[in-house]
Amino acid sequence: MTSNLPRPFLLLSFLSLIAAASYEEDATRRTMEEFSGYPTSPHPSALSLSPSSLSVDMVGLQRQIDELAAFSDTPAPSVTRILYSEKDVLARSYIKSLMEEAGLSVREDAVGNIFGRWNGAEAGLAAVATGSHIDAIPYSGKYDGVVGVLGALEAMRVLRRSGFQPRRSLEVIMFTSEEPTRFGISCLGSRLLAGIEAVANALKHVVDGQNNSFFDAAKGAGYDVHQEDLSNMFLTKESYSAFLELHIEQGPILEQEGVSIGIVTAIAAPASIKVEFEGNGGHAGAVLMPARNDAGLAAAELALAVEKHVMESGSIDTVGTVGILELHPGAINSIPSKSHLEIDTRDIDEKRRNTVIEKIQQSATRIAKARGVKLSQFEIVNQDPPALCEGSIINAMEVASQHLNLTHKLMISRAYHDSLFMARVSPMGMIFIPCYKGYSHKPEEYASIEDIANGVKVLALTLAKLSLD
Ligand SMILES: [Zn+2]
Repeated sequence: MTSNLPRPFLLLSFLSLIAAASYEEDATRRTMEEFSGYPTSPHPSALSLSPSSLSVDMVGLQRQIDELAAFSDTPAPSVTRILYSEKDVLARSYIKSLMEEAGLSVREDAVGNIFGRWNGAEAGLAAVATGSHIDAIPYSGKYDGVVGVLGALEAMRVLRRSGFQPRRSLEVIMFTSEEPTRFGISCLGSRLLAGIEAVANALKHVVDGQNNSFFDAAKGAGYDVHQEDLSNMFLTKESYSAFLELHIEQGPILEQEGVSIGIVTAIAAPASIKVEFEGNGGHAGAVLMPARNDAGLAAAELALAVEKHVMESGSIDTVGTVGILELHPGAINSIPSKSHLEIDTRDIDEKRRNTVIEKIQQSATRIAKARGVKLSQFEIVNQDPPALCEGSIINAMEVASQHLNLTHKLMISRAYHDSLFMARVSPMGMIFIPCYKGYSHKPEEYASIEDIANGVKVLALTLAKLSLD
Protein backbone atom coordinates (compact mmCIF):
# COMPACT_ATOMS: atom_id res chain seq x y z
CA MET A 1 0.00 0.00 0.00
CA THR A 2 2.85 2.44 0.60
CA SER A 3 5.29 0.40 -1.42
CA ASN A 4 6.00 3.29 -3.79
CA LEU A 5 7.32 5.50 -1.04
CA PRO A 6 11.03 5.78 -0.36
CA ARG A 7 12.15 3.52 2.47
CA PRO A 8 13.14 6.18 5.04
CA PHE A 9 9.70 7.75 4.69
CA LEU A 10 8.05 4.37 5.14
CA LEU A 11 10.00 3.65 8.28
CA LEU A 12 9.37 7.11 9.64
CA SER A 13 5.63 6.99 9.13
CA PHE A 14 5.54 3.50 10.54
CA LEU A 15 7.36 4.58 13.69
CA SER A 16 5.26 7.69 14.10
CA LEU A 17 2.17 5.54 13.70
CA ILE A 18 3.29 3.23 16.50
CA ALA A 19 4.15 6.18 18.69
CA ALA A 20 0.87 7.88 17.93
CA ALA A 21 -1.04 4.67 18.53
CA SER A 22 0.35 4.00 22.01
CA TYR A 23 0.29 7.64 23.07
CA GLU A 24 -3.23 8.33 21.93
CA GLU A 25 -4.82 4.98 22.56
CA ASP A 26 -7.22 5.94 25.32
CA ALA A 27 -8.17 9.34 24.01
CA THR A 28 -8.65 7.85 20.56
CA ARG A 29 -10.89 5.12 21.79
CA ARG A 30 -13.02 7.62 23.63
CA THR A 31 -13.22 9.92 20.61
CA MET A 32 -14.16 7.10 18.28
CA GLU A 33 -16.80 5.82 20.66
CA GLU A 34 -18.35 9.25 20.62
CA PHE A 35 -17.90 9.56 16.90
CA SER A 36 -19.18 6.18 15.83
CA GLY A 37 -21.67 5.51 18.58
CA TYR A 38 -20.16 2.03 18.50
CA PRO A 39 -18.66 0.61 21.66
CA THR A 40 -14.98 -0.04 21.26
CA SER A 41 -12.92 -2.46 23.29
CA PRO A 42 -9.26 -3.20 23.91
CA HIS A 43 -9.67 -6.15 21.52
CA PRO A 44 -7.24 -5.98 18.54
CA SER A 45 -10.08 -5.28 16.08
CA ALA A 46 -11.23 -2.27 18.07
CA LEU A 47 -11.08 1.17 16.57
CA SER A 48 -7.97 3.23 16.75
CA LEU A 49 -8.84 6.18 14.55
CA SER A 50 -8.12 9.76 15.33
CA PRO A 51 -7.66 12.73 12.98
CA SER A 52 -3.89 12.49 13.41
CA SER A 53 -3.84 8.81 12.50
CA LEU A 54 -5.47 9.52 9.13
CA SER A 55 -2.56 10.29 6.84
CA VAL A 56 -3.17 10.77 3.14
CA ASP A 57 -0.24 10.03 0.86
CA MET A 58 -0.62 13.21 -1.18
CA VAL A 59 2.46 12.61 -3.33
CA GLY A 60 1.33 9.11 -4.25
CA LEU A 61 -2.25 10.17 -4.91
CA GLN A 62 -1.22 13.07 -7.15
CA ARG A 63 1.11 10.76 -9.06
CA GLN A 64 -1.73 8.30 -9.64
CA ILE A 65 -4.02 11.10 -10.87
CA ASP A 66 -1.30 12.18 -13.31
CA GLU A 67 -0.56 8.62 -14.43
CA LEU A 68 -4.23 7.93 -15.08
CA ALA A 69 -4.53 11.19 -17.05
CA ALA A 70 -1.85 9.91 -19.44
CA PHE A 71 -4.31 7.29 -20.76
CA SER A 72 -5.90 9.82 -23.10
CA ASP A 73 -6.67 10.16 -26.78
CA THR A 74 -5.88 13.88 -26.76
CA PRO A 75 -2.72 15.65 -25.56
CA ALA A 76 -2.26 16.91 -21.98
CA PRO A 77 -3.62 18.82 -20.20
CA SER A 78 -6.82 17.64 -21.88
CA VAL A 79 -8.11 14.15 -21.21
CA THR A 80 -10.28 12.13 -23.59
CA ARG A 81 -11.17 8.62 -22.51
CA ILE A 82 -14.14 7.08 -24.26
CA LEU A 83 -15.88 3.88 -23.20
CA TYR A 84 -14.12 0.68 -24.35
CA SER A 85 -11.46 2.57 -26.32
CA GLU A 86 -7.87 1.32 -26.18
CA LYS A 87 -7.00 4.02 -23.63
CA ASP A 88 -10.06 3.14 -21.54
CA VAL A 89 -8.96 -0.50 -21.44
CA LEU A 90 -5.45 0.52 -20.32
CA ALA A 91 -6.90 2.84 -17.65
CA ARG A 92 -9.08 -0.01 -16.43
CA SER A 93 -6.14 -2.34 -15.94
CA TYR A 94 -4.31 0.48 -14.15
CA ILE A 95 -7.22 0.79 -11.69
CA LYS A 96 -7.39 -2.97 -11.19
CA SER A 97 -3.67 -3.14 -10.45
CA LEU A 98 -4.00 -0.32 -7.89
CA MET A 99 -6.89 -2.16 -6.25
CA GLU A 100 -4.80 -5.30 -6.00
CA GLU A 101 -1.83 -3.39 -4.59
CA ALA A 102 -4.16 -1.95 -1.97
CA GLY A 103 -5.01 -5.51 -0.93
CA LEU A 104 -8.59 -5.45 -2.26
CA SER A 105 -10.18 -8.45 -3.93
CA VAL A 106 -11.10 -7.39 -7.44
CA ARG A 107 -14.00 -8.47 -9.61
CA GLU A 108 -15.63 -7.11 -12.74
CA ASP A 109 -19.20 -7.46 -13.97
CA ALA A 110 -20.44 -8.07 -17.51
CA VAL A 111 -20.12 -4.44 -18.69
CA GLY A 112 -16.92 -3.68 -16.79
CA ASN A 113 -18.05 -2.06 -13.57
CA ILE A 114 -15.00 -2.82 -11.41
CA PHE A 115 -15.29 -3.68 -7.70
CA GLY A 116 -12.48 -3.87 -5.15
CA ARG A 117 -13.51 -5.27 -1.79
CA TRP A 118 -11.92 -5.17 1.64
CA ASN A 119 -13.63 -7.94 3.58
CA GLY A 120 -14.99 -6.89 6.92
CA ALA A 121 -15.05 -8.91 10.14
CA GLU A 122 -18.71 -9.66 9.39
CA ALA A 123 -18.44 -10.16 5.66
CA GLY A 124 -21.99 -11.54 5.46
CA LEU A 125 -23.45 -8.10 6.18
CA ALA A 126 -24.33 -5.69 3.38
CA ALA A 127 -21.16 -3.82 2.40
CA VAL A 128 -20.47 -0.09 2.42
CA ALA A 129 -19.48 1.07 -1.06
CA THR A 130 -17.88 4.15 -2.55
CA GLY A 131 -16.80 5.06 -6.03
CA SER A 132 -17.20 7.08 -9.19
CA HIS A 133 -16.12 6.98 -12.85
CA ILE A 134 -12.94 7.48 -14.86
CA ASP A 135 -14.29 7.95 -18.38
CA ALA A 136 -13.83 11.45 -19.76
CA ILE A 137 -15.65 13.35 -22.49
CA PRO A 138 -13.51 14.71 -25.35
CA TYR A 139 -11.06 17.42 -24.23
CA SER A 140 -12.04 17.35 -20.58
CA GLY A 141 -9.94 17.35 -17.42
CA LYS A 142 -8.33 14.82 -15.12
CA TYR A 143 -10.34 15.22 -11.89
CA ASP A 144 -14.02 14.65 -12.76
CA GLY A 145 -14.88 11.19 -11.43
CA VAL A 146 -11.20 10.29 -10.99
CA VAL A 147 -11.08 11.92 -7.54
CA GLY A 148 -13.90 9.61 -6.46
CA VAL A 149 -12.13 6.46 -7.67
CA LEU A 150 -8.46 7.11 -6.82
CA GLY A 151 -9.57 9.05 -3.70
CA ALA A 152 -11.68 6.09 -2.59
CA LEU A 153 -8.70 3.78 -3.02
CA GLU A 154 -6.57 6.16 -0.97
CA ALA A 155 -9.31 6.21 1.71
CA MET A 156 -8.93 2.42 1.94
CA ARG A 157 -5.16 2.74 2.31
CA VAL A 158 -5.60 5.51 4.90
CA LEU A 159 -7.85 3.23 6.95
CA ARG A 160 -5.47 0.29 6.59
CA ARG A 161 -2.51 2.40 7.67
CA SER A 162 -4.43 3.64 10.70
CA GLY A 163 -5.00 0.06 11.83
CA PHE A 164 -8.74 0.20 11.29
CA GLN A 165 -10.64 -3.04 10.80
CA PRO A 166 -14.02 -2.84 9.09
CA ARG A 167 -17.04 -4.71 10.41
CA ARG A 168 -19.08 -4.48 7.20
CA SER A 169 -16.95 -5.01 4.10
CA LEU A 170 -15.80 -1.84 2.33
CA GLU A 171 -15.90 -1.69 -1.46
CA VAL A 172 -14.54 0.66 -4.11
CA ILE A 173 -16.55 0.77 -7.35
CA MET A 174 -15.38 2.13 -10.69
CA PHE A 175 -18.54 2.62 -12.76
CA THR A 176 -18.60 2.02 -16.50
CA SER A 177 -19.45 4.98 -18.74
CA GLU A 178 -20.85 7.74 -16.56
CA GLU A 179 -20.53 10.01 -19.58
CA PRO A 180 -22.95 9.45 -22.47
CA THR A 181 -20.27 10.09 -25.14
CA ARG A 182 -20.22 6.79 -27.00
CA PHE A 183 -23.75 5.37 -26.84
CA GLY A 184 -25.79 8.37 -25.69
CA ILE A 185 -26.56 6.71 -22.35
CA SER A 186 -25.20 8.44 -19.26
CA CYS A 187 -24.41 6.51 -16.08
CA LEU A 188 -24.64 3.29 -18.06
CA GLY A 189 -23.01 1.11 -15.39
CA SER A 190 -24.85 2.53 -12.39
CA ARG A 191 -28.22 2.54 -14.18
CA LEU A 192 -27.75 -1.18 -14.83
CA LEU A 193 -26.72 -1.83 -11.22
CA ALA A 194 -29.83 0.09 -10.14
CA GLY A 195 -31.91 -2.37 -12.17
CA ILE A 196 -33.29 0.07 -14.74
CA GLU A 197 -34.81 -2.25 -17.36
CA ALA A 198 -35.12 0.50 -19.95
CA VAL A 199 -31.33 0.78 -20.12
CA ALA A 200 -30.87 -2.98 -20.44
CA ASN A 201 -33.35 -2.89 -23.32
CA ALA A 202 -31.84 0.19 -24.97
CA LEU A 203 -28.40 -1.43 -24.95
CA LYS A 204 -29.72 -4.24 -27.15
CA HIS A 205 -30.20 -1.77 -30.01
CA VAL A 206 -27.84 1.17 -29.55
CA VAL A 207 -24.94 1.84 -31.90
CA ASP A 208 -22.12 4.36 -31.67
CA GLY A 209 -21.14 6.96 -34.28
CA GLN A 210 -19.32 4.26 -36.28
CA ASN A 211 -22.36 1.96 -36.20
CA ASN A 212 -20.76 -0.47 -33.73
CA SER A 213 -23.24 -2.19 -31.44
CA PHE A 214 -22.76 -1.97 -27.69
CA PHE A 215 -22.02 -5.69 -27.56
CA ASP A 216 -19.36 -5.51 -30.29
CA ALA A 217 -17.71 -2.53 -28.60
CA ALA A 218 -17.70 -4.36 -25.27
CA LYS A 219 -16.24 -7.46 -26.92
CA GLY A 220 -13.48 -5.31 -28.41
CA ALA A 221 -12.54 -4.28 -24.89
CA GLY A 222 -12.50 -7.86 -23.65
CA TYR A 223 -16.02 -8.07 -22.20
CA ASP A 224 -17.92 -10.98 -23.69
CA VAL A 225 -21.29 -9.63 -22.62
CA HIS A 226 -24.64 -11.04 -23.82
CA GLN A 227 -28.17 -9.69 -23.57
CA GLU A 228 -29.14 -11.97 -20.71
CA ASP A 229 -26.11 -10.84 -18.67
CA LEU A 230 -27.50 -7.31 -18.35
CA SER A 231 -30.42 -8.14 -16.07
CA ASN A 232 -28.18 -10.44 -14.02
CA MET A 233 -26.20 -7.36 -13.01
CA PHE A 234 -29.12 -5.74 -11.22
CA LEU A 235 -28.38 -5.19 -7.53
CA THR A 236 -30.85 -5.80 -4.75
CA LYS A 237 -31.49 -3.49 -1.81
CA GLU A 238 -29.52 -5.95 0.31
CA SER A 239 -26.31 -5.47 -1.69
CA TYR A 240 -25.08 -2.30 0.05
CA SER A 241 -25.96 -0.68 3.35
CA ALA A 242 -24.61 2.66 2.09
CA PHE A 243 -23.05 4.20 -0.99
CA LEU A 244 -20.80 7.29 -0.96
CA GLU A 245 -19.28 9.30 -3.78
CA LEU A 246 -16.46 11.81 -3.49
CA HIS A 247 -16.48 14.32 -6.37
CA ILE A 248 -15.22 17.74 -7.37
CA GLU A 249 -18.03 20.27 -7.01
CA GLN A 250 -18.03 21.23 -10.72
CA GLY A 251 -19.37 24.58 -9.54
CA PRO A 252 -17.77 27.65 -7.89
CA ILE A 253 -19.50 27.82 -4.49
CA LEU A 254 -16.99 26.03 -2.22
CA GLU A 255 -14.01 27.86 -3.70
CA GLN A 256 -15.75 31.26 -3.56
CA GLU A 257 -16.80 30.77 0.04
CA GLY A 258 -13.51 29.19 1.12
CA VAL A 259 -15.26 26.07 2.42
CA SER A 260 -13.37 22.74 2.36
CA ILE A 261 -16.18 20.20 2.20
CA GLY A 262 -19.59 20.21 0.53
CA ILE A 263 -22.06 17.74 1.98
CA VAL A 264 -24.71 16.99 -0.60
CA THR A 265 -28.30 16.79 0.56
CA ALA A 266 -29.95 16.08 -2.80
CA ILE A 267 -29.08 15.52 -6.45
CA ALA A 268 -31.18 17.46 -8.92
CA ALA A 269 -32.89 15.27 -11.44
CA PRO A 270 -32.33 15.78 -15.13
CA ALA A 271 -34.83 15.48 -17.94
CA SER A 272 -34.06 15.91 -21.60
CA ILE A 273 -36.38 16.61 -24.49
CA LYS A 274 -35.93 16.54 -28.27
CA VAL A 275 -38.14 18.81 -30.37
CA GLU A 276 -38.49 19.25 -34.12
CA PHE A 277 -40.48 21.81 -36.11
CA GLU A 278 -41.05 21.61 -39.87
CA GLY A 279 -42.11 24.39 -42.23
CA ASN A 280 -42.07 25.03 -45.96
CA GLY A 281 -38.75 26.84 -46.13
CA GLY A 282 -38.14 28.88 -49.28
CA HIS A 283 -36.03 31.65 -50.73
CA ALA A 284 -35.01 34.28 -48.18
CA GLY A 285 -35.63 37.05 -50.71
CA ALA A 286 -38.59 35.84 -52.69
CA VAL A 287 -41.01 34.61 -50.01
CA LEU A 288 -42.70 37.59 -48.36
CA MET A 289 -43.15 37.66 -44.59
CA PRO A 290 -46.92 36.94 -44.44
CA ALA A 291 -46.40 33.82 -46.55
CA ARG A 292 -43.78 32.21 -44.35
CA ASN A 293 -43.89 29.43 -41.79
CA ASP A 294 -40.37 29.65 -40.43
CA ALA A 295 -39.33 26.57 -38.43
CA GLY A 296 -36.32 28.50 -37.08
CA LEU A 297 -38.47 31.21 -35.53
CA ALA A 298 -40.67 28.54 -33.93
CA ALA A 299 -37.52 27.11 -32.33
CA ALA A 300 -36.39 30.56 -31.19
CA GLU A 301 -39.78 31.21 -29.63
CA LEU A 302 -39.73 27.85 -27.87
CA ALA A 303 -36.23 28.52 -26.50
CA LEU A 304 -37.52 31.73 -24.91
CA ALA A 305 -40.59 29.86 -23.63
CA VAL A 306 -38.30 27.34 -21.89
CA GLU A 307 -36.60 30.20 -20.05
CA LYS A 308 -39.97 31.73 -19.12
CA HIS A 309 -41.45 28.49 -17.77
CA VAL A 310 -38.33 27.77 -15.73
CA MET A 311 -38.30 31.29 -14.27
CA GLU A 312 -42.00 30.99 -13.39
CA SER A 313 -41.42 27.89 -11.24
CA GLY A 314 -40.79 30.10 -8.22
CA SER A 315 -37.59 28.29 -7.23
CA ILE A 316 -33.95 29.03 -7.89
CA ASP A 317 -33.46 25.25 -8.08
CA THR A 318 -35.33 24.97 -11.38
CA VAL A 319 -33.08 25.29 -14.42
CA GLY A 320 -33.56 24.83 -18.13
CA THR A 321 -31.17 24.99 -21.08
CA VAL A 322 -31.52 24.77 -24.83
CA GLY A 323 -28.05 23.42 -25.53
CA ILE A 324 -28.68 22.33 -29.10
CA LEU A 325 -30.49 24.36 -31.75
CA GLU A 326 -29.97 23.33 -35.35
CA LEU A 327 -31.52 24.82 -38.45
CA HIS A 328 -32.00 23.13 -41.80
CA PRO A 329 -30.75 23.70 -44.44
CA GLY A 330 -28.56 26.19 -42.61
CA ALA A 331 -27.97 28.69 -45.41
CA ILE A 332 -28.10 32.46 -45.06
CA ASN A 333 -30.48 32.85 -47.99
CA SER A 334 -32.87 30.04 -47.09
CA ILE A 335 -35.84 30.17 -44.71
CA PRO A 336 -35.33 27.31 -42.20
CA SER A 337 -37.60 24.44 -43.20
CA LYS A 338 -36.65 22.35 -40.20
CA SER A 339 -35.40 23.06 -36.69
CA HIS A 340 -34.14 20.73 -34.02
CA LEU A 341 -33.85 21.63 -30.33
CA GLU A 342 -32.59 19.66 -27.36
CA ILE A 343 -33.73 20.87 -24.00
CA ASP A 344 -32.30 19.97 -20.59
CA THR A 345 -34.30 20.82 -17.50
CA ARG A 346 -33.58 19.96 -13.88
CA ASP A 347 -34.89 20.50 -10.40
CA ILE A 348 -34.61 18.87 -7.01
CA ASP A 349 -38.42 18.81 -6.91
CA GLU A 350 -39.67 16.27 -9.41
CA LYS A 351 -43.25 17.57 -9.54
CA ARG A 352 -42.12 21.13 -10.20
CA ARG A 353 -39.76 19.95 -12.94
CA ASN A 354 -42.50 17.86 -14.54
CA THR A 355 -44.80 20.90 -14.54
CA VAL A 356 -42.11 22.76 -16.49
CA ILE A 357 -41.97 19.89 -19.01
CA GLU A 358 -45.76 20.02 -19.44
CA LYS A 359 -45.65 23.77 -20.02
CA ILE A 360 -42.85 23.38 -22.57
CA GLN A 361 -44.97 20.83 -24.41
CA GLN A 362 -48.02 23.11 -24.37
CA SER A 363 -45.91 25.99 -25.69
CA ALA A 364 -44.47 23.83 -28.46
CA THR A 365 -47.99 22.93 -29.60
CA ARG A 366 -49.23 26.52 -29.35
CA ILE A 367 -46.20 27.93 -31.21
CA ALA A 368 -46.53 25.35 -34.00
CA LYS A 369 -50.17 26.25 -34.46
CA ALA A 370 -49.63 30.01 -34.36
CA ARG A 371 -46.76 29.83 -36.86
CA GLY A 372 -48.30 27.24 -39.14
CA VAL A 373 -45.42 24.79 -38.73
CA LYS A 374 -45.63 21.12 -37.91
CA LEU A 375 -44.45 19.90 -34.50
CA SER A 376 -42.98 16.72 -35.96
CA GLN A 377 -41.26 15.54 -32.77
CA PHE A 378 -41.65 16.11 -29.05
CA GLU A 379 -39.78 13.34 -27.31
CA ILE A 380 -39.00 13.21 -23.62
CA VAL A 381 -35.74 11.27 -23.83
CA ASN A 382 -35.35 10.79 -20.10
CA GLN A 383 -37.16 12.05 -17.05
CA ASP A 384 -35.29 10.80 -13.99
CA PRO A 385 -36.43 11.37 -10.43
CA PRO A 386 -34.14 13.35 -8.11
CA ALA A 387 -32.34 11.63 -5.27
CA LEU A 388 -32.25 12.63 -1.65
CA CYS A 389 -29.18 11.81 0.36
CA GLU A 390 -29.73 9.69 3.46
CA GLY A 391 -30.05 11.70 6.69
CA SER A 392 -27.83 9.38 8.72
CA ILE A 393 -25.07 9.54 6.07
CA ILE A 394 -25.29 13.36 5.89
CA ASN A 395 -24.95 13.35 9.64
CA ALA A 396 -21.93 11.04 9.60
CA MET A 397 -20.22 13.27 7.01
CA GLU A 398 -20.92 16.38 9.08
CA VAL A 399 -19.53 14.78 12.22
CA ALA A 400 -16.49 13.55 10.26
CA SER A 401 -15.84 17.10 8.94
CA GLN A 402 -16.12 18.58 12.43
CA HIS A 403 -13.89 15.86 13.80
CA LEU A 404 -11.27 16.75 11.20
CA ASN A 405 -11.69 20.47 11.83
CA LEU A 406 -12.77 21.11 8.24
CA THR A 407 -15.24 23.81 7.26
CA HIS A 408 -18.26 22.35 5.52
CA LYS A 409 -21.63 23.29 4.18
CA LEU A 410 -24.77 21.49 3.04
CA MET A 411 -25.46 21.87 -0.65
CA ILE A 412 -27.34 20.51 -3.63
CA SER A 413 -25.66 18.69 -6.49
CA ARG A 414 -26.93 20.28 -9.65
CA ALA A 415 -24.92 17.98 -11.85
CA TYR A 416 -25.93 14.35 -11.65
CA HIS A 417 -23.66 11.46 -10.87
CA ASP A 418 -23.67 7.68 -10.54
CA SER A 419 -25.00 8.36 -7.02
CA LEU A 420 -28.33 9.45 -8.51
CA PHE A 421 -28.89 5.85 -9.62
CA MET A 422 -27.16 4.08 -6.74
CA ALA A 423 -29.68 5.89 -4.51
CA ARG A 424 -32.36 3.61 -5.94
CA VAL A 425 -30.75 0.53 -4.41
CA SER A 426 -28.86 1.93 -1.41
CA PRO A 427 -28.89 4.78 1.09
CA MET A 428 -26.61 7.38 -0.55
CA GLY A 429 -24.38 10.32 0.31
CA MET A 430 -21.99 12.60 -1.61
CA ILE A 431 -18.94 14.63 -0.60
CA PHE A 432 -17.89 17.62 -2.70
CA ILE A 433 -14.51 19.31 -2.69
CA PRO A 434 -13.68 22.72 -4.20
CA CYS A 435 -12.38 22.96 -7.75
CA TYR A 436 -10.74 25.88 -9.52
CA LYS A 437 -13.41 28.41 -10.57
CA GLY A 438 -15.90 25.56 -10.73
CA TYR A 439 -14.39 24.50 -14.07
CA SER A 440 -15.21 21.00 -15.25
CA HIS A 441 -15.42 19.10 -18.53
CA LYS A 442 -12.51 21.14 -19.88
CA PRO A 443 -8.72 20.90 -19.64
CA GLU A 444 -8.55 23.74 -17.08
CA GLU A 445 -10.37 21.54 -14.55
CA TYR A 446 -8.27 21.50 -11.35
CA ALA A 447 -8.51 20.55 -7.69
CA SER A 448 -5.58 20.99 -5.30
CA ILE A 449 -4.15 17.86 -3.71
CA GLU A 450 -4.78 19.43 -0.28
CA ASP A 451 -8.49 19.77 -1.04
CA ILE A 452 -8.56 16.24 -2.43
CA ALA A 453 -6.81 14.94 0.71
CA ASN A 454 -9.46 16.64 2.88
CA GLY A 455 -12.17 14.89 0.89
CA VAL A 456 -10.35 11.57 1.22
CA LYS A 457 -10.18 11.96 5.01
CA VAL A 458 -13.87 12.77 5.34
CA LEU A 459 -14.62 9.81 3.09
CA ALA A 460 -12.37 7.49 5.11
CA LEU A 461 -13.87 8.48 8.42
CA THR A 462 -17.43 8.24 7.13
CA LEU A 463 -16.75 4.80 5.59
CA ALA A 464 -15.27 3.68 8.92
CA LYS A 465 -18.33 4.87 10.80
CA LEU A 466 -20.80 3.27 8.37
CA SER A 467 -18.83 0.04 8.33
CA LEU A 468 -19.40 -0.25 12.09
CA ASP A 469 -23.12 0.61 11.97
ZN1 LIG B 1 -18.32 12.99 -12.77
